[in-house]
Amino acid sequence: MKTVYGKFTWPEIKAVDKDRVVLLPVGAMEDHGPHLPLDTDNLMVTRLAEAAAASIPDEVLLLPTIPFGFNEHHKDFPGVIYIQPETLMHFVVDVTRSLVHHGFRRILILNGHGSNHPVLDLAARKTVIETECLCVSVSYWNLIADTLRAERRSPTGGMAHAGELETSLYLYFDPQHVQLDQARAAVVHDDGSRYFCLDLAGGAKAMVMQWWSAQTADGTMGDPTVADAGRGKLFFEAAVEETVGLIQEIRQMRIHSRRDHH
Ligand SMILES: [Zn+2]
Repeated sequence: MKTVYGKFTWPEIKAVDKDRVVLLPVGAMEDHGPHLPLDTDNLMVTRLAEAAAASIPDEVLLLPTIPFGFNEHHKDFPGVIYIQPETLMHFVVDVTRSLVHHGFRRILILNGHGSNHPVLDLAARKTVIETECLCVSVSYWNLIADTLRAERRSPTGGMAHAGELETSLYLYFDPQHVQLDQARAAVVHDDGSRYFCLDLAGGAKAMVMQWWSAQTADGTMGDPTVADAGRGKLFFEAAVEETVGLIQEIRQMRIHSRRDHH
């Protein structure tokens, strides 16, 4: 059963079950401390999307990862490719509109980079308003917040960026590109704050995003020193299971029709 969108011919894609969920991964190209490569977010979200698609191949169609995201606040660090949020939103909606034009009705945007989250949420909402298809946006760490809280070794703030989670995942996927000897803990979360908390396991009541270079010396925000491949595997498998569950629910979800009460 084919699942990679680009491997279909046009007569095949014309004939394919239009209730399959089209999976669109979106990442970023940016600094991840001195110990992880620029492609960290792309690697995480692509591996996750591929694994989810492989486990239910007849229920999914997998698009290529959009490799650039909204991260201008990172640009003081060399290597960052930053896309304006409006551009990213319009680009994503152009992709989803194309899919709907060809008859697809169920789309999941799978996010691998923190600051893409609000942009992709808007893209999904805009798609629904414009097309009345089901378009969902999710950031993969939100799917496994319970697992992160149960299994973490770092304190709150230890898995914000290039910290325990991403370093563990990279060690699991591709350890030869992790320079663990360069990794330093940089837990900048202020435990005294009632409102602010930059951590992928959640907990923030309010959000402010200052320039990245104003908050961390080497780009790390978290504790990569407690990362290991074993928990990378555990986090990854939990994320695959949850992504598959979400896809299956989207596939079954009823698409309600509008009723204009004018
Ligand atoms: Zn990242």
